[in-house]
Amino acid sequence: MTITCADMGYTCGFEIVGESMDQILSGVKYHSLEFHGYSEEELSTSDVLEAWKGAIRQASRPGATRTPRDESDRGITPH
Ligand SMILES: [Zn+2]
Repeated sequence: MTITCADMGYTCGFEIVGESMDQILSGVKYHSLEFHGYSEEELSTSDVLEAWKGAIRQASRPGATRTPRDESDRGITPH
């Protein structure tokens, strides 16, 4: 499994590789502490972890090809 920071909504091309959700998550944690200014405290809140898990599931779906995401559910409406 591979996930990039961009998959999680960061403007960062860092790639985290792991064989399981747990490995990826610990890689993401470490990277976020070092490069994104997160504190241990912030990373221990379930909100952050759940958001990442969701992104990881999305990005690592087996056999999925990278296609642009459907933006229509983001509630962005032109003025
Ligand atoms: Zn990053």
